[in-house]
Amino acid sequence: MSKPWALVTGASRGIGAAIAKELAAAGHPVIINYRAQAEAALMVHQHIQSVGGQAELCCFDVTDAEATRLALEGQLGAGRDIGVVINNAGVVADAPFPALTSDNWTSVTRTSLDGFFHVTQPLVMPMVRRRWGRIVAISSISGITGNRGQVNYAAAKAGLIGAVKSLAKELGKRQITVNAVAPGLIDTDMLADAPIEDMVKHIPLRRVGRAEEVAKLVRFLVSDDAAYITGDVISINGGLA
Ligand code: NDP
Repeated sequence: MSKPWALVTGASRGIGAAIAKELAAAGHPVIINYRAQAEAALMVHQHIQSVGGQAELCCFDVTDAEATRLALEGQLGAGRDIGVVINNAGVVADAPFPALTSDNWTSVTRTSLDGFFHVTQPLVMPMVRRRWGRIVAISSISGITGNRGQVNYAAAKAGLIGAVKSLAKELGKRQITVNAVAPGLIDTDMLADAPIEDMVKHIPLRRVGRAEEVAKLVRFLVSDDAAYITGDVISINGGLA
């Protein structure tokens, strides 16, 4: 039987791009969502096609409820049975709390937390009808331990964990699993300005992680081998916490 479509938000770069490629390699046709970087998204699309996979590009901003709803209606209307949703899109806007602006707060919480709601809710009923589904949210170690300068980000990522745990309880009887993945430091554009050398000293494995390593974990959570894992948070952080 052919595998259901997988929607990966923020799949033009970094962890999302690696997840899109990995799920395509696992046989899922993939919807590559992105917000702005069309060229990068196209490269992910071309890569998937070049290795015999199937993919579609789908540009929308997950913070925009109406745009997201319209885009997803378009995908479902085109007959794409989306059974896998990976809520990966995320941004950082770090600042010590006294200096944190309202924009810093809303850009981060709207992307991770509101984005989860905007993207996941329209796709749940088709999964319920199919009596199978996989929902994964990319949280963060910051959402588990907290982090200086990331009150906004940690709040958003901890919020995702609460959402995942609750939704897992609602959807379990339909054989839909809902989990969070909490990466530590992963080598992507998001770390471009981070003092990596200092940070690595605190990681027991003494290196940052690779996007592909996170993608393989997501591939496992989406697979039938992970059918009995739900409502959980899986860390991938080199021993950092
Ligand atoms: P990148 O900055 O490399 O990529 C971010 C991706 O999210 C891009 O594809 C970007 O699209 C997309 N995006 C951002 N905002 C929106 C939006 N409003 N709507 C749709 N797409 C959007 O980030 P990473 O790959 O590092 O991070 C991926 C996820 O992993 C994030 O949720 C992040 O918080 C989480 N994470 C990352 C860690 C790390 O160390 N890298 C650690 C822990 C968690 P575009 O290219 O079009 O701008």
